[in-house]
Formats: sequence, C-alpha cells, structure tokens
Amino acid sequence: MGVQDGATGPAAGLLRMAMEQAFNAVMITDAQPGPQGPRIVYANPALCQMTGYSEAELIGQTPRILQGPLTSPEVIQTLRECLQTQRFFRGSTVNYRKDGSPYVVEWNISPVKDEQGVVTHYVSVQQDISAVTGAWATSELLAKALDAAQDAVMIANAQGEIEFVNQGFEQITGFSRVEALGQSPTILKSGEHTEAFYARLWQAIQSGQTFRAVFINRHKQGHLIHCEETVSPIRGPDGTITHFVSLIRDQTARARTEQTLREQATRDALTDLLNRRAGEWALERAFLSAREGHKRFCVILTDIDHFKRINDTWGHPVGDQVLQRVATVLRAGVRATDSVVRWGGEEFLLVLPYCEAAAAQLQAERLRARLAEVDHAEVGRVTVSMGVAELRPHETLASLIERVDQALYSAKHAGRNQISLG
Ligand code: GH3
Ligand code: MG
Ligand code: MG
Repeated sequence: MGVQDGATGPAAGLLRMAMEQAFNAVMITDAQPGPQGPRIVYANPALCQMTGYSEAELIGQTPRILQGPLTSPEVIQTLRECLQTQRFFRGSTVNYRKDGSPYVVEWNISPVKDEQGVVTHYVSVQQDISAVTGAWATSELLAKALDAAQDAVMIANAQGEIEFVNQGFEQITGFSRVEALGQSPTILKSGEHTEAFYARLWQAIQSGQTFRAVFINRHKQGHLIHCEETVSPIRGPDGTITHFVSLIRDQTARARTEQTLREQATRDALTDLLNRRAGEWALERAFLSAREGHKRFCVILTDIDHFKRINDTWGHPVGDQVLQRVATVLRAGVRATDSVVRWGGEEFLLVLPYCEAAAAQLQAERLRARLAEVDHAEVGRVTVSMGVAELRPHETLASLIERVDQALYSAKHAGRNQISLG
C-alpha cells in the first residue's frame, strides 16, 4: 500500500494505528493526472463507515464514485485548481454513500511530496458535517432537490407573501423568482374560479387540511394554465400555521388534449353539431334543470322533406352538403344556450331550455321559413317539416320525445314544409 512506502520503525506502526482508529475519515489517493484522475490507495475505517463502502470497494477507485447530482461542480473545480498548484484545500459539498444517500462532507486535502519535492499522493481528511450544518445543508439540499423537480413549488407565509419558489415555478408560471418573491400568490389568479372555490380552499387549509384541486391560473404572459395543485399548511412549533406550500403541476397540455377528445366524442363529424349521444346528455341536463327549477322547456324535431330524392337525384355527397348547410342555418338561428343535435340521418333535434311552447313555435316557424329560402347548389330549394313540443308537468323525457315525433309525423302528413305543435 502506498502509504506504507518509506515509513519505517515504530513511528510507522503508530501512524497506522492512529489512522485506523481516527475519528475522522482519511483517504489517500495517488497523484495521477490523466482523464481518470487520482485513484484511492488508502481508506481508513472511519471513511468506510462514513461512505458505506468497504476498503476493498474503495481501493483503486477514483473519489468520483462518491459524487452525485448535488455535488457542487464549483467546489470540485476549486479543489482541482488547489491541488494542481500544490496548495492545501479545504471545502465542503455533498457526497453520496454507497446506498445513494447524500451527506455533507468537509475535506481537508494536502499534497504529499517525496524527497525530490514531487507530489506523489494527496491525503484527504474528511468529516461528515451534515449534522453540524444541519439546517443549512438541509435547506440547500432541499432547494436543489426542488429545483430538480419539474413541478412548481411555491411557499407562502401566513401573511400571504411568497417566500420561496423553485425553477419549476418559473417555468410553469413565467414569473421569475425575483418577480414572485414578496408577492401574493394571487399573481396567478385568473378570475376563472368562484368565490366559493376560494372559500373552500381557505376553509380546508385554515383547518390544517391539504386542499387539492385543478386550478386555472394565469401565466405571466396572460394565457390560462390548467394546474393540478395541492396547497398544504405548515405549522410552527406552537401549532400555529406559519406557511402554505403549493405543489403545482401543469396540466394545460393534458387539459387541451382531453378537451379535443371530448369534443371529438361529442361532435358529429359531418355537421359538427352535437352527436346523438351528446344530444341525449344535453336533453337530460335541460330536462333535469327544468324539473328542478319548475322552468318551461321545449324541443323541436326537424326532418328534411323528401331527402331520399336528393340523394337519388344528385348523389350522396351532394346530400351531405345539404345536411351541412341545414345544420349551419339551424345553429345560427338559435340561442347560445340552445343545443342543436344531429339526431339521426337527416333529422335534427333542437333543445330549448327556458322556453315555452308559443316561443318555440315562433322559433320553429322562423327556422322553417329561413331554411326554405336557402338556395342549395345544384339542388335548389329544400324544405323541412318540424314537430314542436313543450314538456308537460310530470311528463317523462321519453314521453316528450314521443310527442315531438308524433308532431313531426303530423307535419309530414299535413303536406310537409310546415310545423306542428305536439
Ligand atoms: P320525408 O319527407 O318523409 O322525410 O322523406 P325522406 O325521403 O326524407 O325520408 P326519410 O326521412 O325516411 O329518408 C332519410 C334519408 O336520408 C335516407 C338516407 O339515405 C338519407 N341519409 C341518412 N343519413 C345520410 C347522410 O349522412 N348523408 C346523406 N347524403 N344521406 C343520408
Ligand atoms: Mg326526411
Ligand atoms: Mg328522416
């Protein structure tokens, strides 16, 4: 072993005993330059204890096996520079045990020269100072660990001032650390949530619980960001809440994809109206809210007259164009709160909440007249027949649909291009 070279007599034995029993960890490396750098030639038991590696596992390795993500590159650089210029180095950074756990190490490294003054080894006396520097090391470690996380972390004090944000916060919200610190978390407020939402948030965190929700926040640039967020209170030693920690995960991309998928699942591909399934949901919603609020509620069922002839005469693609045009006219002719549904092949259902029969009849008549005026390419004029029905007290949805179907049948039977009230 290199350390024994040249050491003779009782002093050598004493030295060795001292090393073996020293409280401080001692590592001796050779002074090889080159890409691999110095190799470990000696590790005392305290070093093995501190690092979790056996002597055999350390000998021949480079000290780099103790380094990891939180090891400061600047400290390592200073160390190299010191050693290259044969100076003593003292410094501390994070090292890693064999099991991967980090600790804060302080090094005192001196070059060892031979009789000719050539540096042959380095002796490094090391100490795990994690406990000594506990608070510093922990906060430093945590801050670095939090920066490595992709989620945003924001810590605000009980006075509502932001005290800490990580890099993820800067990325997700667009606010830099400098811009965010000292500000209120309301800098992210989008105005998209109700007062009741914030009341629930406050109620939860004031009572010591974690609040979890999808927040619609506002990015510094002004656009909305959908965030899955948890807000947790932190208590001081006396039990009072001192801080709130928010973990914020950007779900905007996911929300957008889901929105698109939802739309695809609810839209009819040809006309872009609600498809039958979505139409049934819209119908159900309007029905229930009419029931609960004792509100009037109407439906209009529209069917194109002699549509088979259109297909037969001009072909299916032209028939499709007629369907698209009819859909556009219907969509443009109703309120935003009404739903227009492609109910079947060339049948359209209009769901009109907060509407009574007389108004629905007027509406239907207006739409019928407007549709009859449309000049379809090639085909010319196309007419529709319509059934109109208002929900009766205690009536089921199925019965309402049955009645509007009957009303449509009556309109057809009476000669088409007209409406009939069911
Ligand atoms: P009526 O006045 O009695 O309604 O006569 P009609 O010919 O319109 O009769 P009906 O409503 O039974 O015919 C519907 C036709 O619509 C039959 C079908 O071929 C056609 N159709 C259904 N879906 C589509 C579609 O997506 N595109 C096209 N081009 N035609 C369709
Ligand atoms: Mg028809
Ligand atoms: Mg039909």
